[in-house]
Amino acid sequence: MGVMDGKRGIVFGIANDRSYAWYISRQLASQGATLLFTHLPGEKMERRCRQAIEELGIKDPWLVSCDVSKDEDLDAVFNKIAADFGKIDFIVHSVAFADRAFLELGKFHTTTRAAWNQALDISAYSLLAMGQRAVKVMPEGGSIISMTYFGGEKVIPGYNIMGVAKAALEHTTRYLAYELGEKKIRVNTISGGPLRTLAAMAVGGIQEMFDHQARKSSLKRNIEGEEVGNTAVYLLSDMSTGVTGETIHVDAGFSIVGL
Ligand code: NAD
Repeated sequence: MGVMDGKRGIVFGIANDRSYAWYISRQLASQGATLLFTHLPGEKMERRCRQAIEELGIKDPWLVSCDVSKDEDLDAVFNKIAADFGKIDFIVHSVAFADRAFLELGKFHTTTRAAWNQALDISAYSLLAMGQRAVKVMPEGGSIISMTYFGGEKVIPGYNIMGVAKAALEHTTRYLAYELGEKKIRVNTISGGPLRTLAAMAVGGIQEMFDHQARKSSLKRNIEGEEVGNTAVYLLSDMSTGVTGETIHVDAGFSIVGL
């Protein structure tokens, strides 16, 4: 028996078995959820994603290709969900991208228009794009989560354009939560502490972030992927039916500290 028994949902963002989406999927599956997945287009991406899903003990997964910056890819995913299942209960958005040339220390002010548009499109607009399509496959309501980081609230040197994208993602969460509320669809975001993933390694000064987090956070340590996974279970289950539009920090109490 688990709190996700009888619930089916889709996970965007497993690149490998270190991805935040992978830990979220593991905790959801352990609580009885049925999971659908997407991977970034390309054979290599599909192979790595499939391998990581198999490590979760899920054989022959529902897995389709999706570049979230393409409306036609998102339409295909949501149309296939409608055709195969009619409805789903939850969506996990764990996707972000920015050109790493602008994620170096001191390089925020050099960000080009193209790099800005790409980072905000893939990392923030994609949540809105999923939310508008969710309405069709969540006729009785549902729950949507995304992943953000403290660099969307305060300046974290090196996080740069991704911080601007996270600020947009967090506020998109609130506007979406407000409008989709009458359809009983909840939208929340988890602000996770630094975790050693592919995306994290692209950020300049990432080691300093891990060290600083361990020194300065309330719990004096970094975060485990599983801890974010457990909070995802809470937000996607009926344990949180009164919660929407929130940014929940799972950061060992880092964000509450001023000095
Ligand atoms: P990750 O590299 O494992 O995952 C990022 C995912 O984004 C990958 O699966 C990648 O394929 C996907 N992606 C990138 N561009 C895409 C596109 N155009 N279409 C579809 N998918 C695309 O890294 P992660 O750290 O697990 O990142 C997941 C989320 O967690 C991101 O939103 C990230 O910003 C956020 N986050 C990460 C940390 C951290 O320290 N790792 C901290 C807080 C928040």
